[in-house]
Amino acid sequence: MSESTCLFCKIARGDIPAEIIFENNDVVAFRDIDAKAPTHALIIPRQHISTINDLSDGDAGRVGQLFLAARDIAVDIGVAESGYRVVMNCNEDGGQSVFHIHLHMLAGRQLDWPPG
Ligand code: 5GP
Ligand code: ZN
Repeated sequence: MSESTCLFCKIARGDIPAEIIFENNDVVAFRDIDAKAPTHALIIPRQHISTINDLSDGDAGRVGQLFLAARDIAVDIGVAESGYRVVMNCNEDGGQSVFHIHLHMLAGRQLDWPPG
């Protein structure tokens, strides 16, 4: 999957519309098209990285930025205290379907644990 054909690279570039809820130089967050909770955001790095397995040691800061975005979004939408979940799926058994890493952020209802 190259950056020119990747769905989430296209969203990050603005080539495909999405409901953006947060962005900075490194990170973009937008609403999931098939929300699994009242708030379901996808937080992605602008740089294309296919899976967690493709991370290099130098990406530590970039991954950290995804969590910092989740922290700020939680305050913005008022769920920092009530709570939320962030999760990143990897490959088939993890349930990954878009191969540009993304942190799911789910909020607004009591979430089940463990996942099915
Ligand atoms: P994954 O299964 O890879 O962990 O998560 C991919 C997520 O991307 C899914 O929750 C799916 O609903 C979402 N998604 C797929 N295509 C689009 C799209 O075109 N726009 C948006 N906003 N979300 C999408
Ligand atoms: Zn990409």
